[in-house]
This record gives sequence, structure tokens and C-alpha cells, in this order.
Amino acid sequence: MKIVVIGGNAAGMSFAAKYKRNQPSDEVVVIEKRDYISFGGCGLPYFAGGMFDDTERMISRSPEQAIKSGLDLRISTEVVSIDRDNKQVEVLANGQKERIDYDKVIICTGARPIVPSFGEYNPENVFTLTSQEDGLAVKAAFAEEKNQNICVIGAGFIGLEVFDAADHLNKKVIIIERASRVMSRQFGADMVSAVEQSITEAGADLRVDCSVEAIRDADAGGYEVITDKGSVFADVVVMSLGFKPNTEMFDLDKHSTGALLVNEFGQTADENIYAVGDCAVAHHIALNQSVYLPLATTANKQARMMADNLSGKDVYLEGFLGSSCLKVLDYEMACTGVTQALAEESGIEHKISVISDKNQTDYCPGQEDIKVKLIYNPTTKVILGGEIVGKKGAVSRINALAVAITAKMTTSQLGYLDFCYAPPFARTWDALNVAGNVAK
Ligand SMILES: Cc1cc2nc3c(=O)[nH]c(=O)nc-3n(C[C@H](O)[C@H](O)[C@H](O)COP(=O)(O)OP(=O)(O)OC[C@H]3O[C@@H](n4cnc5c(N)ncnc54)[C@H](O)[C@@H]3O)c2cc1C
Repeated sequence: MKIVVIGGNAAGMSFAAKYKRNQPSDEVVVIEKRDYISFGGCGLPYFAGGMFDDTERMISRSPEQAIKSGLDLRISTEVVSIDRDNKQVEVLANGQKERIDYDKVIICTGARPIVPSFGEYNPENVFTLTSQEDGLAVKAAFAEEKNQNICVIGAGFIGLEVFDAADHLNKKVIIIERASRVMSRQFGADMVSAVEQSITEAGADLRVDCSVEAIRDADAGGYEVITDKGSVFADVVVMSLGFKPNTEMFDLDKHSTGALLVNEFGQTADENIYAVGDCAVAHHIALNQSVYLPLATTANKQARMMADNLSGKDVYLEGFLGSSCLKVLDYEMACTGVTQALAEESGIEHKISVISDKNQTDYCPGQEDIKVKLIYNPTTKVILGGEIVGKKGAVSRINALAVAITAKMTTSQLGYLDFCYAPPFARTWDALNVAGNVAK
């Protein structure tokens, strides 16, 4: 069997490494257009914010290591088309085209940042943050003493991580968000208000309900960022406006986002073509439908399952919950499953309950507020999703909630679930128990 993997990052390399270990005598060709592979972009905001300085720490495998493991890795090589009739991929390297035969293709082309047309401006200090090159450029721009005003466009995961990084470097940050709140796709307004307040108290200028219309070069250097509510000055602009799957070249069925439609084993409508990672949909356990979940966790796990499955192993991955988390200043924000926004958007029957509690006892240092929102079925009380925000313990609790949702537990089962307790960590009734008991 000859497998051609397009894209050598999280999904592509997870698939290729696992499949090669399973089937050492099969030929696995990995085509990657960049000159590096296995790059963990998740570290970029922390790299830019000065938490570490060596880009190698974001790379889990070098091309040499991949080749030594038996993979036929072609870096600096781009796939330009798939000829499904002749079962060949066409690649371009050093200006030369070549055709490579395949038995199966695994599309792992990921997604690219959305960059709206904001007019003409000098791009020198206007960035997105997804590649190693972006990371080096943003870090260098942040390091320059003259660059004190940082404008972040978009207050989703990456935008807020960039804010956190810039704040850590004592920059003056302006955050511009079109929606009425930060993290609007993951958290309700009631959940993010304390985080928004702390962003403002940290000295940032947070503008929600505000749309960027253009970027212009300012007369004295830097940029004028023009919004529908006036303009702001910035030395550096970082755009974090979401992602678009790299799927235009594939003549296959697509989701409204452009992600490739696949079954639970990652197979497209063409039985010899599979897709995984940020370029494909994934099955959402609690919604019981395919959705777009561009996360490293989804890419890695789905790719590994597909490698086992294509090797003939009887494995099954039920799906995903889109569990995700974020640090903003002192806050942990975490969500899993069907969030309030997703429930409303999908029209799924649901009920919502929110509690404000404490993360631990008051006589041990470290007691903080914690807010838990549960989304559940109003009839069966089966938990569908949750949002947790607090200064300590939100992330660990969302992981427990992900287990409960996967096990299709009800709110009353959560209410009695035997969570551990000791004064520095929780109270006898953990915040999740309280949330379960209150959700009737
Ligand atoms: C700043 C940042 C922070 C993040 N933080 C988190 C986090 O905390 N948690 C989390 O779960 N996720 C996080 N993510 C998301 C995570 O990085 C992605 O979900 C993950 O990288 C997806 O992996 P992938 O292999 O599908 O796609 P990508 O990582 O996009 O890789 C696709 C690869 O395909 C190559 N390619 C594309 N087209 C072609 C072609 N035609 N020919 C050859 N090669 C091609 C690309 O060069 C690239 O190497 C973050 C992302 C960013 C940018």
C-alpha cells in the first residue's frame, strides 16, 4: 500500500508516524510545503510574549528524524492537485512538477488565517500568528522599544492569548472585537464579564461591538486602525479573525466553512481520499453531527485513530467535544461540548443553569470565585456542555465535565459524582457537584 499524506504538521505527522509504526513495510510519502514539520503553533503567543526564546521547542520532530523513521518526507514541496482518475497527486518543488501515485491520500492541509482586505498599508508591522515565521516577526516587533501600542483585531482564543502576551511585556493593548463580547463563540456574556473587566483594569482598551474597516499608515509612523466607531493608533497590529480551511483545490464535498466532509473514520466521498485536522469536519459527540473543530487535540486524536483504522486495527473514536481552554491574565476560561452559543445556533433542545461558587475552602490561601454554566437536555437532564470561568480550577473541572458528557451523565449524577476533596483544592461539595444539583 502507498499512502500520500498532504501536509506535515499536527494531523499529517500524527497520521504518518502512527501508520508507519503499524505498517513498516508500507510506503508513506509526506508532502509538506514548508521547510519544517511538526510545528506546535499553540506555543506562538507564549514565544512572542517572551516566555521562551528557542523556536525549536515548538518543533516535536525534525525532517531528519522523520526520514530516519522510514517516512518518505518531501519538504519545500507543494501539492497542487489530485488526479483522482489516475490516482496521482501532482506536486511542485523548486519549480519542477512531479506526479506521485497513491493508493490512499490523507489530506492534512490545515487552515490559514482569515485576512480581510483592510486597504493599502505598509505590511511591516501587521501580522497574523500561525507560523514559525509569524512568531519570529511578532516577537521581534514586540521587542522593539518604540512599539508600545499593540492593536489586536479579534478577541477569540488567539487574540486574547496575544493580548496576554503583550500585556506580559507591559505593552499598551487595544483589542477590537466585532461581537458584543470576547470569546463570543465559546462563552456567554454572563461568563466573560469578569474577564473583560480584568482586561480593562489591566489598562487595555477593549472595544466590543466595534468593527475594523481599514488600516492606514499613520503620518508619523505606525498605523491608524479605522473602525466604525472612530480610529485608534497602533505601532503593531495583530489580526486574529479566524481560519479558513485549505481545501479550495479539492473537488470534494464541503461543509459551510469549507472544511471537507468526512465520515467518522475520516473518509471523504471518494473511498481512497481521507481528510483530518483543520481542513476537515469532526463528529461532535454531544450534538451528534459533524462540525468544524480546528483544534490540535482533534487533529492528533482523529489522525491516530485513522492510522490504526487504515492499518486494519479495530478502533473507534466516538468523536469530540471541542474541549478548549485559555489563560487570560489571572483567569482560566474553559468550555466543552455544546456551549450556550452552539446550542442556540444549532437549535438543539436545551436548558441552561449557572452557578457562582468558590474553588476551595476560605481558610487555605487561594480561594477564588468560580462560575459554572451547564447546558443540558430539559427532559432527560443529560449534560450537553459546559462553560467554566475562574481564577483557579476551571480547566481541571472542564476535563471532569468532558468525561461526564462523554459518559452521557445526567445533572443529578454530576451532583453526586465522587469528586475528591481537601481544603486547598475544593470544598466538600465541589463546584461541579453544586452545578449538577442546581440544574433541575
Ligand atoms: C497561535 C495558535 C494557538 C493555538 N493554540 C491551540 C491550543 O492551545 N489548543 C489547541 O487544541 N489548538 C490550538 N491551536 C490550533 C492548532 O494549532 C491546530 O488545530 C493544528 O495545528 C491543526 O493541525 P493540522 O495539521 O490540521 O493543520 P496545520 O497545523 O495548519 O498544518 C497543515 C500543514 O499542511 C501544509 N500544507 C498546506 N497545504 C499544503 C499543500 N498544498 N501541499 C503541501 N503542504 C501543505 C502546511 O504548510 C502545514 O504545515 C492554535 C493555533 C494557533 C495558530
